[in-house]
Amino acid sequence: MKKDEFLSVVIPVFNESSVLDELINRCMAACGQTGLPFEIIFVDDGSSDGSDARISEAALKNEGKIVACLLNRNYGQHSAVMAGFETSKGDMVITLDADLQNPPEEIPKLVSKMQEGYDVIGTVRMNRQDTLFRKAASFLVNKAAQKATGVKMKDYGCMLRGYRRHIVDAMLQCHERSTFIPILANSFARKTVEIEVGHNERVAGESKYSLWKLINLQFNLLTSMTTFPLRILSVIGTCISMAGMFFGVFLLVMRLIHDSKWAAEGVFTLFALLFIFVGAQFIAMGLLGEYIGRIYHDVRARPRYFVQEVIRGPK
Ligand code: UDP
Ligand code: MG
Repeated sequence: MKKDEFLSVVIPVFNESSVLDELINRCMAACGQTGLPFEIIFVDDGSSDGSDARISEAALKNEGKIVACLLNRNYGQHSAVMAGFETSKGDMVITLDADLQNPPEEIPKLVSKMQEGYDVIGTVRMNRQDTLFRKAASFLVNKAAQKATGVKMKDYGCMLRGYRRHIVDAMLQCHERSTFIPILANSFARKTVEIEVGHNERVAGESKYSLWKLINLQFNLLTSMTTFPLRILSVIGTCISMAGMFFGVFLLVMRLIHDSKWAAEGVFTLFALLFIFVGAQFIAMGLLGEYIGRIYHDVRARPRYFVQEVIRGPK
């Protein structure tokens, strides 16, 4: 175990002034317990309730231990965390929420796991204090993310997580605007593990995620993982076209068996034709989608691969 490793804790703050004092005290105590040199970076995500002033004050009082990183306006939790990553200099970086739903007391646990050699530490919330709707949404997300990143994790929603420096650096090389950090991290990780942590109800204030912001987050999540939805268009189109063709053949056969009255004088044939053309349009859209997907991948310019380490034998 390397003793001189530096620990950074990144906390996004958006209008959380009512819990800041307790948060700072508990984080300082928890980080002190690890025995490592540390910094706690508070990223103010454009708060309007004086959180920024409190953070700055704390940073001046605890020089070196607390760092205030103030954004000019609200950019959203994940962008705020990214800004924190950029400011951080730790060999290990831990993120957590400011609302004390993630107990800071779990920090030493995450640190010791990272020192065991894991790149990304995920967390599973025991007795999770959230509504059923949020839990159901999480369930779907977890399933999709497992497919996209190939990493099995049960819980992506919990932001109490630990990342090794090389993972943070890799994430900082991804310049796309809409990110979902836990999934991005997993796409660069070699060794991951999930540990159980406590989860509390929000101590004060309310959730900063309105329904609209949640929907936006889900889209960020989806598009950060995959361009598969674009491909679905082609699949739908093929199905519709095929259905149209079968219908056409069916009509033809029935027309031969029965007389023209049966097919309502060709009206149904029009439907068959319509289906075929509508399907063809969907296929064409899917094809466009294929190109758009590729453009999206290229514009995003994520590193094509990520070499974590090269090991050569002695010369
Ligand atoms: N947050 C942020 N910017 C935002 C929304 C939220 O920095 O636009 C921070 C917020 O201060 C908190 C964390 O992200 O530290 C999680 O937010 P919240 O607790 O409201 O989300 P929930 O727990 O309801 O998912
Ligand atoms: Mg919360």
